[in-house]
Amino acid sequence: METGGGGEDCCVKVAVHVRPLIADERAQGCKDCVTVIPGKPQVQIGTHSFTFDHVYGSTGSPSSAMFEECIASLVDGLFQGYNATVLAYGQTGSGKTYTMGTGFKDGCQTGIIPQVMNVLFKKIETLKHQTEFQLHVSFIEVCLLSSRILKEEVQDLLDPTCLNKPETANGHAGKVTVPGKPPIQIRETSNGVITLAGSTEVSVSSLKEMAACLEQGSLSRATGSTNMNNQSSRSHAIFTITLEQMRKLNPVFPGESSPNESMNEEYLCAKLHLVDLAGSERAKRTGSDGLRFKEGVHINKGLLALGNVISALGDDKKRKEGVHVPYRDSKLTRLLQDSLGGNSRTVMIACISPADINAEETLNTLKYANRAR
Ligand code: ADP
Ligand code: MG
Repeated sequence: METGGGGEDCCVKVAVHVRPLIADERAQGCKDCVTVIPGKPQVQIGTHSFTFDHVYGSTGSPSSAMFEECIASLVDGLFQGYNATVLAYGQTGSGKTYTMGTGFKDGCQTGIIPQVMNVLFKKIETLKHQTEFQLHVSFIEVCLLSSRILKEEVQDLLDPTCLNKPETANGHAGKVTVPGKPPIQIRETSNGVITLAGSTEVSVSSLKEMAACLEQGSLSRATGSTNMNNQSSRSHAIFTITLEQMRKLNPVFPGESSPNESMNEEYLCAKLHLVDLAGSERAKRTGSDGLRFKEGVHINKGLLALGNVISALGDDKKRKEGVHVPYRDSKLTRLLQDSLGGNSRTVMIACISPADINAEETLNTLKYANRAR
């Protein structure tokens, strides 16, 4: 079903995805400490209870339910020119990559991105007689450099000249761009469109081509990291689909005189960002690279800024008063700026583990997600 125009109600929807206990947790004797209330979008942990727009437990709801209820309308919106953002939030190991489908292995079939691609191409197929389509994808990572924790850097996961290097002695894993290549820069056009100068945009015309980009970038991301405290747990991966359309408004029939061509065409451009966020856990006293941090300092800068932006957007009263939305506080929020708020739709999926050993981080995730509503 089509869901009509943008900007209705609150622009941020929040869903929770509880994964099942994994083999490793069962082997450790972990207990399930998260309860999903049947028939209600409600989740309980200990004495805490939270209500969201949707809650998906490990049993009962197939992955297609989440797609239908949370994501399908965003894909429809793209065809009407509305930008959108899907964010997977949660601690490392909570299921973000599985949920988004940015893991080239197990997530690739059931994840959100593969389902988006399927629906997108099916819809294009039904509309192509009256509309000309152009699709582009980019796949980037926003990393925190381990040596300078407050400095974020944008990496291009589709750059063919980008080399993947194994983790070095100081723990600085990741992709090293060929010397001389200018860093990727976030730019804003005069009408507020955010662009990434220097990142690879691949033009795709089939599902197969788009899937190849997802796979290439996912592989590039995975090979840059080796352990739990790896690059991918400290970086945000953003897969972006840009849909351009030239729609013929009044098709001219043979024999009729053709009026001014441009009067008869409508151009629309919209993009969908699919974001596998960095792990939300607070870094331990000793960071993965052996550097010592004061407790509480090593909170991912992008996640902090994102929380502030989303809570400013979710607050109707503040929104009407035109309160400042702090997009500029991080590169993550800066580059999502034209697709968060305004007429854009945003869905945050908070991913949680049900295991009792993760209870503290799970509670933090639910609190963060609750703040977004
Ligand atoms: P994250 O990206 O948040 O670090 P992952 O997506 O890599 O977490 O998931 C961690 C582990 O849990 C993986 O082995 C993954 O296969 C498994 N997993 C995650 N979500 C689910 C799910 N819904 N059903 C089954 N296994 C899952
Ligand atoms: Mg992951």
